[in-house]
Amino acid sequence: MKYISTRGGIEPIGFKEAVLMGLARDGGLLLPDTIPLIGADTVEKWQELSFADLSHEVIRLFAPDIPAADLRDIIRRSYATFNHPQVTPVVRQGKVHILELFHGPTLAFKDVALQFLGNVFEYLLKENGQRMNILGATSGDTGSAAIYGVRGKERINIFILHPHERVSRIQELQMTTVLDANVFNIAIRGTFDDGQAIVKTIFNDLDFKDRHGLGAINSINWARIVAQVVYYIYAALRFNGSRVDFAVPTGNFGDIFAGYIARRMVPEHIRRLILATNENNLLTRFVVDGDYSLGKVVHTSSPSMDIQVASNFERFLFYLYDQESGRTRQAMESFAASGSLAFDAAEQEKIRANFLSLSVDQAETKATIADFHQETGYVLDPHTAVGVRAGLHFLDEQVPMVCLSTAHPAKFGEAVEEAIGREPELPAAVADLEKRQSRCQILDADADQVRAYIEEHGL
Ligand SMILES: *Cc1c(COP(=O)(O)O)cnc(C)c1O
Repeated sequence: MKYISTRGGIEPIGFKEAVLMGLARDGGLLLPDTIPLIGADTVEKWQELSFADLSHEVIRLFAPDIPAADLRDIIRRSYATFNHPQVTPVVRQGKVHILELFHGPTLAFKDVALQFLGNVFEYLLKENGQRMNILGATSGDTGSAAIYGVRGKERINIFILHPHERVSRIQELQMTTVLDANVFNIAIRGTFDDGQAIVKTIFNDLDFKDRHGLGAINSINWARIVAQVVYYIYAALRFNGSRVDFAVPTGNFGDIFAGYIARRMVPEHIRRLILATNENNLLTRFVVDGDYSLGKVVHTSSPSMDIQVASNFERFLFYLYDQESGRTRQAMESFAASGSLAFDAAEQEKIRANFLSLSVDQAETKATIADFHQETGYVLDPHTAVGVRAGLHFLDEQVPMVCLSTAHPAKFGEAVEEAIGREPELPAAVADLEKRQSRCQILDADADQVRAYIEEHGL
C-alpha cells in the first residue's frame, strides 16, 4: 500500500514517510491508494480480538513497511496508558449505546490517536537518526493530549502555547503538571488566535523550521486517522454481526472521516454515519444543502468543535470527486479564494448516501445532558451530548445506535453543572492535579520571544 496526495503532486510514498510528512508537500492531504475491503472470514476472526490486537490487524494493513513485531510493540505501549481493560468500551444507556473514548490519560478521545502517533514518531525518528521539535497552539484541550502523546519520548521536544489565564483551570493543570524534561508549556499573554498566529509565523520561517526540525501534531496526520478507524470497527463488531449506526460529534471532519474509512472496510457492519455539529454548522450545511461556505466562529459549550474550516474535509472531497486530484486541487483553490463551494444534485445525492447530519444548538445540548441524566443516570459531556441528540433524532429502533463519547464530563464541569445542577465527579487521573507541581513559561504574544525560547530549549 502506498500513499498519494489528494492534489496529485507527489510520487507515491510508504506509510512511514507519510507519517513524517504530515501535510503532503503539494499542499494536499495524504491518503492510501486503496482501502481494503475486509472479507467475512476475517471479520469473524476480528470479532474475538482485544482492542490492541484488533488495532494491530487493522493498522498493519495500512503500515506494511513497519515490521509486525515493532508495530505490535508500538500499539501495546500506546494503549497500556488507558485505564479501561477494553480501551474503548461500548455501554448501553437508554435507547443508545455509548462508545466511551475517554479512558486515556487526558480523558478525551484525542488520546486514542495521539498516544499512537507519539510512539510512531519516536520509532521513526530513531530509525532515521533524526530529532523533532513539535510546536503547536491550543485553546485548551488538544494541547494536553499532544503533550501526553510525546512526554518522555526520545528525540522529541514539544512546545505548546496556550493563552495565559484563558484556559480552564483543569485544562491548564493537565498541561503544566507534566514535568518531563522534553515538555515546554508556554502561556502567551494574549488570546488563542495570537498563539496560533505566532505558530504560523514561525512555521513560515522556513530557515528556522529546517534548522530546528520543527514538526506539527495536528489532526491531518494519517496516523491519527488510522488509529481512529480501529474503534469504529471494534464497536461495530460488539453486536453479533448486526449492522449499526454511528453518531459522531464533529469539528475537523477527522473523527467522522475515520468512520467513513471504517465503513468502506466493513460495509456489512456499519450502516449509517451521522455527522453532528454544534452551532458551527458548516458541515451540516454541506450534507443537508450541498453548501460548504465559511461562517463566523461561534463560541459554544462544546468548544472543541468550534471550528469553521474542517481540515480533513479535503480527504472526503477527493472520494466525492471519484479520486480526481485535478478537480480536488481546483476546488480547494477556489474555496481558498472565495470561502465557499457548492455541489450539484448528483453530488449531493452521493454526499447523503454517506452521511446524515444535524446541527444541535446550545439549548438543545444542555437539555440533552439533563434529559439523558434523568432517564439513565449517565452524565454526558457537551460534545458527546451533541452527538447523542443527533443520534436520537435519527434513531431507528431496529438498528443499534452507537454514539461516540469524545470527552469525560469532568473536563467540561461547568456546562455539565448548568444542565444537571451538580459538577460531575472527578476521576482519579485529575482529582489531585491541584496538589501536583507545575511548570510553565509566560511570554508576550511575540513570535520573536517564542523563537528565542525554542532556540534555547529545542533539540
Ligand atoms: C477534537 C474533538 C472533537 C471533534 O473531533 P474532530 O476529529 O475534530 O471532528 C469532538 N469532541 C472533543 C471532546 C474533541 O476534543
